[in-house]
Amino acid sequence: MSARLVLLGPPGSGKGTQGALLADFLGVPEISTGAIFRKNLSEGTPLGLEAQTYMSQGHLVPDSVTNAMVADRLSQPDAADGFILDGYPRNVEQAGVLDQMLAEHGWTLSAALELDLDEELAVKRMLHRAEIEGRADDTEPVIRERLTVYHQQTEPISSLYKARGDLVVVDGDGTLEQVTERIKAALAPYLS
Ligand code: AMP
Repeated sequence: MSARLVLLGPPGSGKGTQGALLADFLGVPEISTGAIFRKNLSEGTPLGLEAQTYMSQGHLVPDSVTNAMVADRLSQPDAADGFILDGYPRNVEQAGVLDQMLAEHGWTLSAALELDLDEELAVKRMLHRAEIEGRADDTEPVIRERLTVYHQQTEPISSLYKARGDLVVVDGDGTLEQVTERIKAALAPYLS
């Protein structure tokens, strides 16, 4: 079974947490563009420094930078049998580039999984996460900007995948275990 999944949903909807659990369950790598940027930032690489300005303002890192990074990551051997993309694609242009990358590898997407969560609940979760993880972009003004960017740039991708019959929407409100079970049940028809 080779699962090739895209995770969608507003910031704070649980993509990272659920993506990691799902990746373990499916035995595929979780590829989080945000996590790769943060790692580069903490290591002070040129990529990290380039991304920092955008991340700290809640804006998207330019497509040229992000697309190249994802193309490189998907070409690594551990992605050959499947992957979960968390945080990519983030706009319609990136979705088009992902289509091209998949085609070049001869791959098709299993599904696009969207975690649906009330916006104020997502904000609360991120403010709570800030206390634990101390993420620089988990301050209320930056969170609000990330939500605006999500609505303007990322949300249109859902209709794109929906039109293709690839969109699976799961209610992200509940305990971690409840949401995990919902995800597994909803994805089952797409992974067999
Ligand atoms: P995340 O961890 O997914 O919330 O991402 C944190 C930040 O990293 C975002 O607010 C963006 O600044 C940047 N980022 C992550 N993924 C992308 C992407 N696909 N395109 C552009 N910027 C991204």
